[in-house]
Amino acid sequence: MQSLNYCNISIDRIDSVIAKEKKCDFSILRLDKTHEEISGNKIFKLKYYLQKAIEEKKDILTWGGAFSNHIVATAAACKMNGLKCIGIIRGEEPAEYSHTLHHAKMMEMQLQFVSRQNYRQKTIPASVNTNNYIIVKEGGYGKIGAKGAADICSFFKSENYSHIICATGTGTTLAGLINSCNGSTKKIGISALKNNKSVFTEVKALLTDTTSEFEIIHDYHFGGYAKHNTALIDFMNAFYKKHFIPSDFVYTAKCFYAVEDLIRNGYFPEGSNILALHTGGLQGNFSLNKGTLMF
Ligand SMILES: *Cc1c(COP(=O)(O)O)cnc(C)c1O
Repeated sequence: MQSLNYCNISIDRIDSVIAKEKKCDFSILRLDKTHEEISGNKIFKLKYYLQKAIEEKKDILTWGGAFSNHIVATAAACKMNGLKCIGIIRGEEPAEYSHTLHHAKMMEMQLQFVSRQNYRQKTIPASVNTNNYIIVKEGGYGKIGAKGAADICSFFKSENYSHIICATGTGTTLAGLINSCNGSTKKIGISALKNNKSVFTEVKALLTDTTSEFEIIHDYHFGGYAKHNTALIDFMNAFYKKHFIPSDFVYTAKCFYAVEDLIRNGYFPEGSNILALHTGGLQGNFSLNKGTLMF
């Protein structure tokens, strides 16, 4: 299997008319370039869970949905590190596997399908001896995940940026950035979920300094988690055409859309130097109908 190319990570300056007009600079950290399918931030979040598993001679158990970037990343990371893993998947086993599930299975993740009810309660199947597993919460949420995400800051000089922005699901990546990036740089999360206001507290719980400031913006979910509309798809195609940067419809497209919209609305003061994270997730686009995207 293809390994990860951290040296491919670049910072791409976006030649944006609206940014120029508002005298802002907009760049994207291309964490998506480390691997074709395994998303950028997930591998970072997994790093110290994997290390713990190797040290304690354990395997990995985690949770996710049928299109989860976290499931694919866990399957791949375990395979690369010679660990076994169990993925507990939300919902009954489908007759036809999604691209995500198929890929995870090919990488030898043991898939266990549970009802939505059981999934919500995060019960571990009785057949699993939990002593043999490092349990990784859905999306890698936790202090260990945030510690891994903090390593993302080593790929740019945070003091050069006035604002750092990322798409937010569990908030683990955002917490990592808050913990390790320059204190005066503003950290902003664009929530990929609808009205998930509790994420603020969940991020706070992962902070090494709980007085650190950050903001989570809830206006760019496009109807909810993994929901999309023509405006978002058109934006993704136009963004690719102009900048040659592919995005995913669950997270990064909503984040980049938000950055441009916030610039347009004067959210950023003149002279702002904005860095948005491309957190990967491109494998999720396989769930869209063929031909929806031009990339
Ligand atoms: C999971 C994911 C996120 C959200 O990360 P959190 O640490 O859960 O907030 C953002 N972008 C992409 C592409 C993801 O796959």
